[in-house]
Amino acid sequence: MAELDTFREETRAWLEENCPPGARGPGQVPNGSTKVKIANPDVRVWLDRMIERGWTVPTWPKEYGGGGLSNAEYLVLLQEMRRIGARPALSGFGTSMIGPTLLEFGTEDQKQLHVRRIAQAEVEWCQGYSEPGSGSDLASLRTRAEDRGDHFVINGAKIWTSGAHLADWMFALVRTDPDASKHDGISFVLLPVDQDGVTIKPIQMISGESPFNQVFFDNAIAQKSDLVGELNKGWTVGKRLLQHERSGMESLAAGAAASEETTVPDMAKDSVGEADGRIADNGWRSRVASYEINSRAFTLAQRRAVEEAKDGATPGPVTSIFKVYGSELMQEYYSIAMELRGWEAYGVDPTTTDQGDIEMQKQWLFNRASSIYSGSNEIQRNIIAKRVLGLPD
Ligand SMILES: Cc1cc2nc3c(=O)[nH]c(=O)nc-3n(C[C@H](O)[C@H](O)[C@H](O)COP(=O)(O)OP(=O)(O)OC[C@H]3O[C@@H](n4cnc5c(N)ncnc54)[C@H](O)[C@@H]3O)c2cc1C
Repeated sequence: MAELDTFREETRAWLEENCPPGARGPGQVPNGSTKVKIANPDVRVWLDRMIERGWTVPTWPKEYGGGGLSNAEYLVLLQEMRRIGARPALSGFGTSMIGPTLLEFGTEDQKQLHVRRIAQAEVEWCQGYSEPGSGSDLASLRTRAEDRGDHFVINGAKIWTSGAHLADWMFALVRTDPDASKHDGISFVLLPVDQDGVTIKPIQMISGESPFNQVFFDNAIAQKSDLVGELNKGWTVGKRLLQHERSGMESLAAGAAASEETTVPDMAKDSVGEADGRIADNGWRSRVASYEINSRAFTLAQRRAVEEAKDGATPGPVTSIFKVYGSELMQEYYSIAMELRGWEAYGVDPTTTDQGDIEMQKQWLFNRASSIYSGSNEIQRNIIAKRVLGLPD
């Protein structure tokens, strides 16, 4: 404990000295993409300092650019960052998904190259899993990769590929043995996005934004040295990556380090009024109390998962529980926030210029998707039934 106290003191002092004002409070968190400019010089300074300390990926081994922190130290770091409002120096598909997967399944060369590049914010990734007709039933995917000796030639298409237009590399599930049973002929490969055989077409949403894309492969190339795990055994690698995505150490620890202060009761008091220090309306009081209890219980469950996990390791199929519960809790948060703001926030009034309302509406809408992406909550419930509770198929 004393060691952890010392670590806290040193960390606090280091953060105070090294986290510039422009990296505190809301703002940009870089993801390593070579295609996204870092607008604020403070953000660059913060990123460089964190890279040097290995704290862009605090629990990853030092030999691959990480900080080598234990889970307990990582929690302290996050709590101390939260105390001064410091944003993470780096986020993205690299730190949360492919990095931890490569640490488990990658060759030494892959770790030295790809994991190190992620830690040093030199690259951003995208996820080539879903295909038209293969979403929940992902193992039915049809994108083909033919073995040509030292490389694969890939043909087919992916869909809903978030951020492909801003990514440098893609990790993808491809079919390498069309004659094998559904789950057995799939391999997990890495490929650069900027090559002749890859075409990226944005999918425009009703909001006018295009966060995701359709990606077409027309004789695209993935090197054999970028095959992760064994040929035709990519399903195992791909499933493990989904566990990192659903509730990897990064998101579990961030949740576990969350402060117990909450804005929800204050939001409700502001909106419906206050009587004797309490929310003035019975219905709202009860709804906010339920939310608060569930939210705190969830934070404690995340904390327990972090404490029980081997340092830096993401838990297994129980991540599906975190995904279902976390996404539904988040949706309830935004529903409460929107209802409290009233009809203007829903965009009923198109002339509204209230940035708070506009931002809240965006978040509320985006979070409808959180029970769909990385496997819908119905699919997570199937996984929980089979893999956590051991119920028959
Ligand atoms: C915001 C967002 C970002 C995304 N980003 C990416 C990305 O970067 N890369 C990527 O590869 N994919 C991405 N996806 C795609 C996502 O993984 C799929 O949308 C998801 O897996 C569901 O597949 P589907 O859309 O084809 O729906 P379907 O599989 O057609 O499902 C339709 C409905 O049927 C239900 N259903 C299907 N099968 C079952 C079953 N066996 N039991 C019970 N219910 C079932 C589902 O729960 C769902 O409600 C993203 C999706 C969203 C919304």
